[in-house]
Amino acid sequence: MPDTPLHLLVAALGGTIASTADGSGGVAPALSGAEIAAAAGLDRIWPDLQADFTQVAQVSSANVTLDMLHDVVDLARRTDADGIVLTQGTDTLEESAFALSLLNDSGTPIAVTGAMRNPTLPGADGPANVRAAALTALSPSARHLPATLVFNDEIHDPHHVRKAHVSSTAAFSSGPVLGAIGWISEDVVRLPHAPHPRTAASPFAGLPRPDAFAAVALAEVGLGEPAETFDRLGEAGFAGLVLAGVGGGHVPEDLVPAVLRLGEQMPVILASRPGSGASLTRTYGYVGGEIGLLEGGLIPAGILDARKARIALTLALSYGLDPAEVFARFR
Ligand code: ASP
Repeated sequence: MPDTPLHLLVAALGGTIASTADGSGGVAPALSGAEIAAAAGLDRIWPDLQADFTQVAQVSSANVTLDMLHDVVDLARRTDADGIVLTQGTDTLEESAFALSLLNDSGTPIAVTGAMRNPTLPGADGPANVRAAALTALSPSARHLPATLVFNDEIHDPHHVRKAHVSSTAAFSSGPVLGAIGWISEDVVRLPHAPHPRTAASPFAGLPRPDAFAAVALAEVGLGEPAETFDRLGEAGFAGLVLAGVGGGHVPEDLVPAVLRLGEQMPVILASRPGSGASLTRTYGYVGGEIGLLEGGLIPAGILDARKARIALTLALSYGLDPAEVFARFR
């Protein structure tokens, strides 16, 4: 009996991978998922592939919303596809991949990808990225990963990956220590560092989509940062704050009172500015060090960088979950 042909769903949100000349002298998203995938040569890998296409949105990265990502999760819950490729702009690809890693409870893996060179340029990387993402989404070895970020023939864990260069086709990096969890060559997916399936289900699994999303601010502290930044944030009506402190999560001494006041007002997540590694919890006891800030009620971001912590806190507050419990998962 012949094997059932593989079934891929390509969902598209826009971005450079979909962009063509728009009359402004620049480019803007216009191509459909089907047009994007046509150049990826998927039929040469799987001659019988059943491919479906859904245009979820046609926007630039900065206009992708959590609602759109919930639409993608709804698609994943409904489809009988073996895997999903999601194409979007690269500027917020890391946030989408991370949100989907928490929200995708469908059992159908989603590989997110995009392009650094738009389709009008020589050496456009979109087709190769779609091909690599399709191989990952349909690979039995990646089935246990609700979401992956696939780029430049590398496979990344959404918990760690970041866009680290404005224009390089190797723009995505999971930091100097971890690196990618795998790669693709000769159409074979190799995942020597795939994370083990998580023993605890995501706290968001099975929950209905919230009606609205909480407003969470993200502030990165710099040398000479004025305390006023944090006084203003306290007055602005945010539901929560992610603070990217210098180093492992530190602030200047004269900011401490304002930051601790904020921590009494709303959940404040203490992340680290370098963006890879884990925020510290028990090393620095000086005023403004992480020990005092955490004792004062701030919540450690753990392995999440500030951008991903912002997604996790937004979801926690929007779903009515306790941020401290949600962040305990990332220690
Ligand atoms: N530079 C972007 C991209 O790679 C544009 C965007 O993110 O929408 O797609």
